Amino acid sequence: MDLGFVGLGIMGSAMAMNLVKAGHKVTVWNRTKEKCGPLVEAGADLASTPRGVAEASDIVFAMMATPCAVKSVRDGEDGIIAGLDSARGYVDMSTIDADTSRDSYRLAHGKGALFLEAPVAGSRKPAEEGTLTIMAAGDRKLFDKSLPFLEKMGRKILFLGEAGNGSRLKLANNLVMGAMLAALCEGLSLTAKSGLDPLQLLEVLDSGAMANPMFRLKGGIIAKGGEFPAAFPLKHMQKDLRLALQLADTVGQPLFSTAAVNELFKAALLEGLGECDFAAVSRVIGK
Ligand code: NAP
Repeated sequence: MDLGFVGLGIMGSAMAMNLVKAGHKVTVWNRTKEKCGPLVEAGADLASTPRGVAEASDIVFAMMATPCAVKSVRDGEDGIIAGLDSARGYVDMSTIDADTSRDSYRLAHGKGALFLEAPVAGSRKPAEEGTLTIMAAGDRKLFDKSLPFLEKMGRKILFLGEAGNGSRLKLANNLVMGAMLAALCEGLSLTAKSGLDPLQLLEVLDSGAMANPMFRLKGGIIAKGGEFPAAFPLKHMQKDLRLALQLADTVGQPLFSTAAVNELFKAALLEGLGECDFAAVSRVIGK
C-alpha cells in the first residue's frame, strides 16, 4: 500500500520516518521544504503539493499545527481533498477542534473517499519510538485499513466512533496536562521562594500518588531554570487550552482551572515563549 505524509514538524517528521523505516513507500510534503530532506534521504518520495501526496497515496496522513494549517493543506486546488477519490483515505492526526475535523470528514466523503481523525498523545520521544497513544474516530473501514500503519506510530490505539470524538477526547487529555504542568511550576516556585530545595519537592512528589513520567521528565529542568528545547511547543499547548474552552462552551461545561491556566499560557506567549517547550511557562510563574 502506498502512503503519504503531509506536515513534517516535530511530530510529523518522526511519525513519517517510522513508516519509511518500516519499509513502506511514503510520499511527503511540507510547507518548509528543508524539513523533507531527512525523509527523502531515508527513501521517501517528494511531492510538490499536498494534492500530489494524496494522488500518490492509498492513505494520506497529515500532522498539522492548527485548524488553520489543516485547512491550508486540505482545501483549494492544491489541497489534499482535490487529490482524493473513492480508492483513497485521509487520516488527519493533528490536534484540532471537532468542527474542523467533521468538515474534513464531509469534504473527503464528497470525493467518495474515507476519513479518519487520529490525534495523538505523547511527545517527540514517543513519536520517534512509535509509542504514541492514538485517538481515532471516523470511518471504521479506514481505521481497519490504517491500523497496520498506525501501529508503526503508536502503541495504544483507540477507535472512538464518529468523527469529532477523537478531537474532543484529545482536548480533554491536554487540559489535564496543562493544569498539571502549571501546578508543578507553581509548587516548584513556591518551594524555592520559601528557601527550600525544589528538587526535594520533586522527590516527595515522585514517592507518592502524584508520581508521573511528565513530572520526572520536566521537573528537574524547571527546578534548575534550564533551557527548554521544544518537544511540545508552548504555542500548541495554548491552542489546545483555547480549543478545550471552546468545546466546553458548546456543551455547557464550566472549566474553572483550565480558564486560569489558559490565561497563564497567553501571558507566556506575550513573553515570546511560544516556540519554547510548554515547560517554559515556569518563567512566567517564577517572575
Ligand atoms: P510543529 O513542529 O509546529 O509542526 C507543525 C506543522 O504544521 C509543520 O509541518 C508546519 O509547517 C505546519 N504548518 C503550520 N502552519 C501551516 C500553514 N499555515 N500551512 C501549511 N503548513 C503549516 O508542531 P508539532 O509539535 O509537530 O505538532 C503537530 C500537531 O500535533 C499539533 O496539532 C500539536 O498540537 C499536536 N501534538 C504535538 C505534540 C508534541 O509534543 N509536539 C504531541 C501531541 C500532539 P512548517 O514546517 O513549514 O512550519
